[in-house]
Amino acid sequence: QDVPRVVLSARGLRRDFAGFVAVNSVDLDVHHGKIHALIGPNGAGKTTIFNLLTKFLQPTSGRIELLGTDITRTSPAKVARMGLVRSFQISAIFPHLSVLDNVRVALQRPSGLGFQFWRSLSALDELTPRARELLGIVGLDDAANRLAGDLSYGRKRVLEIATTLALDPKVLLLDEPMAGMGHEDVGTISGIIRSLARDRAVLMVEHNLTVVADLCDWITVMQRGQVLAAGDYATVSQDERVRIAYMGT
Ligand code: ADP
Repeated sequence: QDVPRVVLSARGLRRDFAGFVAVNSVDLDVHHGKIHALIGPNGAGKTTIFNLLTKFLQPTSGRIELLGTDITRTSPAKVARMGLVRSFQISAIFPHLSVLDNVRVALQRPSGLGFQFWRSLSALDELTPRARELLGIVGLDDAANRLAGDLSYGRKRVLEIATTLALDPKVLLLDEPMAGMGHEDVGTISGIIRSLARDRAVLMVEHNLTVVADLCDWITVMQRGQVLAAGDYATVSQDERVRIAYMGT
């Protein structure tokens, strides 16, 4: 029986931009096996938090721990190798390569950052079984031999998630995974995210509150760089300050 455990945590996280405090005193705990949403109006600091957690930005102060290790001063590539992976890190899918080759290329780039040319075709062949497995996990097995560029928008986003899985993330950060999607694709992606969260943690920025209510176990509401409220959907949606500040009621 799995006791939920914190895989990623931030304490007193702060980031200033030329005197402007974009993220202020943020505490955040992300649990294994759970889907955690970061919500809040534009400018609330959500993107900055993602950049701080993935180490694309250095915090002005505060501390970040990944799987019990202090990563406050760790490089983005190292953090990715340690298992904290952001979806659009590899979101540049190659439209002229097949779906399968996109995943095989991702499997060749251990840090998920930077680019490495294929060493040899036989080295690539060795990656085929794992690549097919990842396509199976996201339901793209039937499209393995199609050109990535020919996929629908929704399935391209799913392919991005598959390439992210090449890094075997323990914590998956998804930046608006449903953005621009129709009802059907939202359902498909929700199912994929749910299955991915069974053996890892998911932290996602999401604007669609219906999705958040349906999918997320825990919600952190941001406003002007600070955490306004945190809890499950029922709790935060009834919070007076959240209703006023975020939902406008
Ligand atoms: P969100 O993702 O919630 O919309 P952001 O994290 O993008 O919010 O932005 C939070 C605040 O920080 C905004 O007021 C934004 O203008 C500011 N900000 C973000 N990045 C920078 C930057 N590189 N330089 C200056 N200000 C920034």
